[in-house]
Amino acid sequence: MIALFEYMFYNLDGDIMKRIIFHIDVNNAFLSWSAVKLLSEGYKIDIRQIPSIIGGDESSRHGIVLAKSPVAKKYGIKTAETIYSARKKCPNLKVFSPNMEYYRLMSKKMIDHISNYSPDLEQFSIDECFLDLTGTTYLYDDILDLAYKIKDEIFEKFGFTVNIGIGNNKLCAKMASDFEKPNKVHTLFENEIESKMWPLPIEDLFMVGEKTAIKLKKMGFYTIGDVAKCDCKRLIKEFKSFGNTIYEMANGIDNSIVDSTISQSKSISVSLTLDKDTDDIELLKKVLLHQVDEVGRALRKKKLYTTIVAITFKTSEFISFSKQCSTDLPINSNNAIYDKVISLLYKSWNFEKIRNIGVRISGFTNKRVTQTSLFEDGNKEVDDEKIQSVLDSIKDKYGSNIINPASLIDKE
Ligand SMILES: [Mg+2]
Repeated sequence: MIALFEYMFYNLDGDIMKRIIFHIDVNNAFLSWSAVKLLSEGYKIDIRQIPSIIGGDESSRHGIVLAKSPVAKKYGIKTAETIYSARKKCPNLKVFSPNMEYYRLMSKKMIDHISNYSPDLEQFSIDECFLDLTGTTYLYDDILDLAYKIKDEIFEKFGFTVNIGIGNNKLCAKMASDFEKPNKVHTLFENEIESKMWPLPIEDLFMVGEKTAIKLKKMGFYTIGDVAKCDCKRLIKEFKSFGNTIYEMANGIDNSIVDSTISQSKSISVSLTLDKDTDDIELLKKVLLHQVDEVGRALRKKKLYTTIVAITFKTSEFISFSKQCSTDLPINSNNAIYDKVISLLYKSWNFEKIRNIGVRISGFTNKRVTQTSLFEDGNKEVDDEKIQSVLDSIKDKYGSNIINPASLIDKE
């Protein structure tokens, strides 16, 4: 058992400590959730225990395997292969249709439960989230015990298992949750990177897909450690800026924050309090441009479009006001958002000195449904086009609102 204090280091000012991040990931989400639903309806067999798959429309040639049981896996069935080919490998295979509405419900229940432990929760996909416990660890005697508690509670309450990875950043937490499945808790703290992560094959590194792995092997890098110890310039020469990202990830470096604003609310906003009051319009425009880039990137990361753009102000007396407008069509480009913001600026600002300015976007829509992250789960060779066609066929069958990004799930 690892004692908590080993991972809470305060500096001499008493204000810096290592972060404690959990990555919570549902094991085999679609199949598990379908199993739970079937059992609740009186189905006698737990489909997690038999050769079974969740598959897209079997009658169409594009029907593919979205999730497979461990037994189906033993037959050599792979995610994203056609149901037709999966049946050839295992003639008594049971095929079940996905039920996105139920998956979203399970996802919401789990996220609501986990959010009891920290407000800093970022939903990463329908079945994964990050939880930042840095500021709350004093509440818990042992962080590992807490992880086991959360894991077991989810099983007892909802009937499905999760893996929990713990690290000092999101990358390490995510790598750790992937170590051994199902129903496990793993740590990958800074001082464990060399022993636990470096021996792994390079394709196990987050964001390293098949094509990148092949290139890295040609360069003589077979393990994550090989990349971590190499001359970063070689990677940059081959992969441009992504080379630097690979190098940092191999060394367990990731400074991104657990961003609860993106996943928990139905708006994305950013604001800045200026050093002093200003009526310098050029300065304000520059600030707004930067802010539009921030909210725009957050939006596109979620593969969403916005339909409502707002500008927010605070005067030196801290009187707040804002003005918003609807867009004609859903937009997600910086240019389109910036145009709206600037026209709002001219419409609503009377050139009095202001202290704080911000941008807020809301009214999100997934004009095009492309949440491929649902399928990332251990399937690096997933064929995006096939998945897109499966998603389309699900939409055709159940209506276009059936698949929504997790960020649109209502928070009560
Ligand atoms: Mg998962």
